[in-house]
This record gives sequence, structure tokens and C-alpha cells, in this order.
Amino acid sequence: MAQQEDVFKKIVSHCKEYGFVFPSSDIYDGLAAVYDYGQNGVELKNNIKQYWWQSMVLLHENIVGIDAAIFMHPTTWKASGHVDAFNDPLIDNRDSKKRYRADVLIEEQMAKYEDKIQKEIEKAQKRFGDSFDEAKFRATNERVLENQQKYDDLHRRFHDVMNAEGGIDLDGLKQIILDEGIVCPISGTRNWTDVRQFNLMFKTEMGSTADGASTIYLRPETAQGIFVNYLNVQKTGRMKLPFGIAQIGKAFRNEIVARQFIFRMREFEQMEMQFFIQPGTELDWFQKWKAYRMKWHQNLGFGAENYRFHDHDKLAHYANAATDIEFRMPFGFKEVEGIHSRTNFDLSQHAKYSGKKIEYFDPETNESYTPYVIETSIGVDRMFLSIMCHSYEEQQLPDGQTRTVLHLPAALAPVKLAVFPLTKKDGMPEKAQEIINELRFHFNCKYEEKDQIGKRYRRMDAIGCPYCVTVDQQTLEDNTVTLRDRDTMEQKRVHISELRGIIEDKVSITSLLKKLL
Ligand code: ATP
Repeated sequence: MAQQEDVFKKIVSHCKEYGFVFPSSDIYDGLAAVYDYGQNGVELKNNIKQYWWQSMVLLHENIVGIDAAIFMHPTTWKASGHVDAFNDPLIDNRDSKKRYRADVLIEEQMAKYEDKIQKEIEKAQKRFGDSFDEAKFRATNERVLENQQKYDDLHRRFHDVMNAEGGIDLDGLKQIILDEGIVCPISGTRNWTDVRQFNLMFKTEMGSTADGASTIYLRPETAQGIFVNYLNVQKTGRMKLPFGIAQIGKAFRNEIVARQFIFRMREFEQMEMQFFIQPGTELDWFQKWKAYRMKWHQNLGFGAENYRFHDHDKLAHYANAATDIEFRMPFGFKEVEGIHSRTNFDLSQHAKYSGKKIEYFDPETNESYTPYVIETSIGVDRMFLSIMCHSYEEQQLPDGQTRTVLHLPAALAPVKLAVFPLTKKDGMPEKAQEIINELRFHFNCKYEEKDQIGKRYRRMDAIGCPYCVTVDQQTLEDNTVTLRDRDTMEQKRVHISELRGIIEDKVSITSLLKKLL
């Protein structure tokens, strides 16, 4: 674990050192849980967004996009339930003065039991090799059974407390923390305050006070911008059910515990798609979207073993199915995306609060009804972090040296091709520039002439650039260059005219999209 934390720290400093992510307002020592994306970060982020957007809007004829404003009529948040219920249960440790989410403390405790079980299994796997029978081991090993029992008991208690009549049982949450002997990681004590509810929405004012300014909120999710535009899009786009509306945009939450870098931010970006369907078909569509979204993730080639579904125990009162897609981060499996079957809750609430009829006339059944919704909701920043964590490697090379390399999927890499003149003379820089001038219309290229070639390779490895080309004396004679591959470090001699053909397909978002079909 300590080693993993170490790796995570290195990734955070790598992100800063190579222009991916900076603390916000860095010269003023940053702003808690707010970050800026640098010159390489913004490219990677844009590529992630493009991969998502195109997989939704380009590949599905029945999905269209919108871009709604961040500010919305305040009644929106009354209708959606956010004013009354977008709360997290918080608890303070009196000694360290640190604040925690009470539910997260308990979830971490459950993860500890799971970890213990996993460790026993891994140990036994090593001991027994091929003859290892995991199911039998789980059913018979004493230590596994003991931890499983603790996990199950805690799980049941937590579920009951979170789903108590009339909302979360705050005293019950605290009692679990006390009974489990959970200590503050900073002070190491159990000196906890009571658990309180805390609303996560940021408020501001619109209009001058003389006019009677009204309180408005920075949207805590992009989804409501889609729901309030359902009628506009359905009518003007003449959309027939089932159809979806996709949106990418900023969201804001005054998170209680904002640690772990860009995993939990106060200003972040979401990519959400609401899929409107006929009531009664929701569980079928839920399964379809679950499968499609998992495919989208796994399509990046990070290995299926690094993903899992986490089906929700605690369903919002309006939802009838919900799951998270979790990715193995250096600090454990963590949610990257949520998929929710939200029934007709949101549209009905907006109909009620706005007084407008929000329905769909189904020409096939000659009926009007309020559509049901399946939502897929993913955080751009969390996706960015998962990609960074998986791609980062400090690699031992056969010659005893190490290199830091980002094995980014080529289609997402900020820079696709770096072109180096071997020396700054004999027309090599001009030749290198010529290559860039030709290829820059097709993908992102970078020119580098400083330092030895080896150092230039390392700099490009560190930002995940999949290809480097070197222009040398021979290039001037026969128009061939050396093309070097980031992952294998192999070099081959190719003709300049071949470069585009070799590289373009591998670095285009289209190459990823084709694998989704
Ligand atoms: P969590 O349980 O981690 O607080 P959530 O279940 O509240 O997340 P949703 O409301 O389902 O999250 O939001 C959908 C997605 O938005 C999440 O899967 C995550 O990727 C992203 N997201 C949510 N909150 C944040 C945040 N504070 N910072 C960065 N990304 C976030």
C-alpha cells in the first residue's frame, strides 16, 4: 500500500512537471481541490471528451448533444431534490480538526476487510499454483470466513442505516464508526463529533441587491440541463423514443473531503447522457448501457481485470437500478462512472414544478406518457486520472538505466509525433520543419532540436508521445527517416512519404471508435 501511495505521489508531481495538471492559482499556493490543466493536460482532456462525444453522438443516430448554461432557474434544484437532499453526512475528529464523510469512513473499513480476504487468496494462489480452487478456499479458509463475516455484518448494518425511514440515520452512522473502532488517520483517535448533514451546492447571487437579487446555484450535475431541455430537443429534433441527449460540461460541488488530487474536485467536468425510453423497458436498456459503457472503457486496452461493476445497495428513492464502473487506481478500485435507471422522476418533478406538460406521444401505441430515463454519467477528470495512473511507468531498461514513460493510448496522447533534426546544421532543421508542415493538418506534431537525441526521446516518453522521427544526413540524400516507437523503443527506417499512412490510423480517435462497433 505504502508503495502504491508513493507511485501516486509521483504521478501527481509528474502531472505538474510535464504540463498536465497544475494547482489552481498556483502562484498564490493553490486553491483546495481546484486544478488547472496545462498545455499537455488540455490536449489529453480534449481527446477524452472527443472519444466520449463521438462514441455517443457520431455512433448513435438517436443521440444528439446540447450545451446548456451552468446557471439555471433556481426552481430546477428544488424540483430535482438537490436543495433538500443533496447532502453528505460529515463527521469531525476533535483532535486533528479534520473533517470526513462518515459514509466514506465506513466504506473504507469494508474495503479493508475485502483487502484482507484478497491477500489470503493471493497468498494461497501462489502456494498452490494451478491446482488452486478459489471457490473452495473462500468456503473453507478460517481467516477468509472470519473477514467475510465481518464484512457482511458491516455491510448489512450500513445498508440499514443509509436506507432508514425518513432518510439516513445519522446517529446510527456514528455508532457504526464507534463500534468498528475507526480512528482518524491523522490523529489516530476516536474522538468524533456527531454526524451532521451538509449541502454540497455552491450558492451565488444573480442581479443587484437593489433589484432584489435571487439566490442561484452553480449546477452540481449537468443532467438537469438535459431534463429541462427534453421538450425543446424532442420537438425541434422530431426525436422518437428511444433517444438520448448528451452533454459535456462543468459541475460544482462543495465536497467535504477533497483529497486525492483530481479524483474529488470542487469544480469538475462531467460527460452525461440521458436516454429516454418507454416505461417498462428500463431494465433491458439499463443492461445494454451497462455493457456498452464497459466496452467503451475496456476499448482503451488497460485490461479487463482493472475494471469492475459495483451495484448500488443504496438506491435513491426514484431509481430502480444503479451501478458504478470502478477502475483500479493506486488507492484501490474507485468509481469513474455511474449508470442509473432514474424512472420518470426528473421529468415528472419538472412537470410538477413548472406546470408544463412534459410527455411523449407514442405514435405506435397512441398513448402519451412521461418517458423513463437511463443515465450514464462519467467524470472527465476521474477518467483523466485513471488514464494517467495506468499509463505511468518507471521502466528499467536492459542497459541499467530507467526511463519514465506514459503508455497513453495513442489516440488520446497530447502529441502524436515529435520530429527531431539530428543536428542544427546542414538543412536538417528545415527538413524536419517541412515534415511537420505536411503532417500538422492530420495530427498534433512537435518540433524539438535541443539536447542529444536520447534526452529528446525521454522528454517525449514522459508526455506519452507515441512516435518520434529523426532527420539525419541520410534523410537529406534519400528522404528516409528513423521512426521510433514509444513502447517498444524500436527504430526503423521509413520513407517520409510513408509516415502519414503508418501513424494516422493508429493515433486517430476513429481507430478507437471503429473497435466499438
Ligand atoms: P462520489 O460517490 O465519488 O462522490 P457520486 O456518486 O456522487 O460520486 P455522481 O453524482 O454519480 O457521483 O457523478 C457522476 C460522475 O461524476 C462520477 O462517477 C465521477 O466520475 C464524477 N464526479 C462526481 N463528483 C466528482 C468530484 N467531486 N470530482 C471529480 N469528479 C466527480
